[in-house]
Amino acid sequence: MIEGGCFCSSIRYRIEGALQHARSCHCSRCRKACSGASSAYAEIAPNSRFMWTAGEDKLTKHISGHGWGLAFCSVCGSTLCGMFGEQVHGVALGCIDDDPGVRIEMHIFVGSKAPWDPIGGDAPQFDERPPSPSISAE
Ligand SMILES: [Zn+2]
Ligand SMILES: [Zn+2]
Repeated sequence: MIEGGCFCSSIRYRIEGALQHARSCHCSRCRKACSGASSAYAEIAPNSRFMWTAGEDKLTKHISGHGWGLAFCSVCGSTLCGMFGEQVHGVALGCIDDDPGVRIEMHIFVGSKAPWDPIGGDAPQFDERPPSPSISAE
């Protein structure tokens, strides 16, 4: 079981099952959405169950287009998850409490990374999207 929550602890969630396709996106939109060098994000695996356990009423959703969006805590501003419509698509890894069992598999949109970010680690880097259909959202 994976648990996480926002900076102020108003909002908590639980995932029964696993995450998949962990990646870090360095595009300007993800940098702003996560206030950092990149996003660190993983999708809820098929057959896994995501549920809010506290503070769902404090979520604010920002839908950016084509049904995709983000949800964040309206008290402290932590970006918690990616949404597709009303469905939680994946979570920002920074808000998970313990080891969620996944590792960043790739860095994407490295062509537009911040100039001050050297990008560590040995995960493959792609200037834009990787040449694979596994990535369904930024
Ligand atoms: Zn909060
Ligand atoms: Zn991005």
